Amino acid sequence: MKPADRDVERAARAAAGARRALVERLKAAGLCRDPRVAEAMGSVPRHLFVPAALQGEAYGDHALPIGYGQTITQAANVARAAELAALTPAARVLEIGTGSGYQAAVLARLARWVFSLERIAPLGKGAILLLKTLGVANVSIKVFDGSYGWSEHAPYDAILVAAAAPEVPDPLVAQLAAGGRLVIPIGPAARQKLLVVRKLPNGRTRAEDAGEVAYVPLVGRFGFAPAETERISR
Ligand code: SAH
Repeated sequence: MKPADRDVERAARAAAGARRALVERLKAAGLCRDPRVAEAMGSVPRHLFVPAALQGEAYGDHALPIGYGQTITQAANVARAAELAALTPAARVLEIGTGSGYQAAVLARLARWVFSLERIAPLGKGAILLLKTLGVANVSIKVFDGSYGWSEHAPYDAILVAAAAPEVPDPLVAQLAAGGRLVIPIGPAARQKLLVVRKLPNGRTRAEDAGEVAYVPLVGRFGFAPAETERISR
């Protein structure tokens, strides 16, 4: 074996160990109770979704920068949202905020198909390339303001919003299937409440508060206005 191959193998082994430890920590925190979610969190190579210089920190339970002022979703938030969405293997899922593509890759192991929208073109394009490299074949990504949803592929069994909105965007509720669930953080920067909006068979909705979370803002027509100072830079 060439020395470079040996390094790659050693790094992959270290990452697998760090992933097992992450799942144990999530379980201790009351997450990953669903064995399918635990399997997904334990399989997706999170370190490949962060910049090379930060790979050593990828399995810590915090958000990490992915460029353009954005962050990879915290592992605990991915596990929590995936569990609250109650995905079946047949589910069609919409994710708003592709970012690095990490959460999309986790959802792809839990559902039939994941549609994902990202407003920052280089992030969306980067995620498309990375998921292709990793052989994830059941995710479609588009660069678009996800606060409108993706009506072409609706209705969705679940919609997961990876950014915090001022209120529940109407188009997302409209694109939810009867019996479907929308998991969305609602509130200002820094601290929000995670809402699970269920669409009942009669078309009415019922929202439950699933606790406090911290996500980056949803920026768009049914989200927050882009801040005047917002700079899209690395
Ligand atoms: N799920 C991603 C999280 C990235 S952070 C991951 O696992 O890496 C949230 C992302 O939402 C950012 O990339 C941000 O650009 C994106 N975002 C914010 N508002 C958006 C909108 N209206 N439509 C689509 N994406 C949006």
